[in-house]
Amino acid sequence: MSDRQPLSPCDAATRIASTLKGAGFTAYFAGGCVRDRVIGLEPADYDIATDATPEQIAAVFPSARGVGEAFGVMLVRMGGRTVEVATFRSEGGYTDGRRPTEVRFTNAHEDAQRRDFTINGLFQDPSTGQLIDYVKGQEDIAARMLRAIGDPDARFREDRLRTLRAARFAARFSLSVDPATADAACRYAPDLAGVSRERVGQELRKMLAHPTRAAGLALVERWALDAPSLSERHSQGELARVAALPHQASFAESLAAWRLDRAARRDPPSPGNWTDALVLSNREASDMHDTVGLVEWMRSSWSGARKSARKRKAARASFAAALAIRGAEDATHASEIRTCVDALAAEPGGLAPVPLVTGDDLIAAGLAPGPRFRELLERAYDRQLEGEVSSPQQALAAAILEFRG
Ligand code: ATP
Ligand code: MG
Repeated sequence: MSDRQPLSPCDAATRIASTLKGAGFTAYFAGGCVRDRVIGLEPADYDIATDATPEQIAAVFPSARGVGEAFGVMLVRMGGRTVEVATFRSEGGYTDGRRPTEVRFTNAHEDAQRRDFTINGLFQDPSTGQLIDYVKGQEDIAARMLRAIGDPDARFREDRLRTLRAARFAARFSLSVDPATADAACRYAPDLAGVSRERVGQELRKMLAHPTRAAGLALVERWALDAPSLSERHSQGELARVAALPHQASFAESLAAWRLDRAARRDPPSPGNWTDALVLSNREASDMHDTVGLVEWMRSSWSGARKSARKRKAARASFAAALAIRGAEDATHASEIRTCVDALAAEPGGLAPVPLVTGDDLIAAGLAPGPRFRELLERAYDRQLEGEVSSPQQALAAAILEFRG
């Protein structure tokens, strides 16, 4: 089996459901995957909901692992895939507005009621394709409408992250938002401050991963979810830089564009510590600051910069995103930069050629290693980027001359 191709996520989930059905249980595709199929998108992953309890799931699939057994969630391996299989449940006692404090195993109808939005509340029987819709989710998908299941105020009070999820889903699927749902989202916006920073960060990560990110952030600002998400004063306005990003822009680059959009407003909020507010990794934080720094450098220093500096900046991973952001600020300037960088990239060795001299070369030439080495090598590389030296011999000779001089 191990050298076979893994099953598609759909086939893996279908097999698990049919095995459960064979054992006498009900098993449906549930939530986001059904929504995606109804919309006509290929779901990235499939979740199964069943009336089998976690013990019964484990009895049918001995290798199943519990992830949140108290919540009735098991992970089942099938054909090289892992599928989440969850027991139908209702959730009660959201005392802290963040996580359910108790769950009760129940039927599909009640399981649909605990879900957040009608578009996310559908089930599908994989063996027949039949949709099981207790929440009028199909109607709302057809009308392209995001609507909370049940009383919106109650739903946002139960789990305050749902305000941010509403913005994410509305943007991602180009939905209008039911007015009662939108009003409630505004009312509960301040409460997002009490949600764990990890959950807020994860939700924004998902929103910004998608090319519709500017529409998502527009809703975030319209509903004033920005302040509690970023621990920063509320600000609403143009998102031209976010909108100009390449589709595949990273989370960090998207945050950089958002930061610059907010900073460019008439009354900009003083920037908060987004690293703490969103629990950014070191890498994400440094990429975000790097992108912001590149845009600021383009504005202030590009025109006077030497070829070596331009090549060094243009070789950075976030340069493409930074240039797109700069394009939203000044299209003419960005296109000048692009033309120049294309020409630099066409030079021998491109933007980031392999260095002609290394520290080992300096040692082999009899130079004593020391604190000056790093600087010496940087300058040797600059000479190379400028085109002042073009062979290892020339590069080494120039470095030795500098060392002795
Ligand atoms: P994505 O494609 O972004 O993963 P999704 O709909 O699968 O979208 P998930 O967060 O993976 O979103 O959740 C799966 C399903 O679980 C949702 O479709 C929804 O039915 C339910 N769900 C998830 N989070 C919540 C929540 N905070 N409140 C209520 N229901 C939720
Ligand atoms: Mg999902």
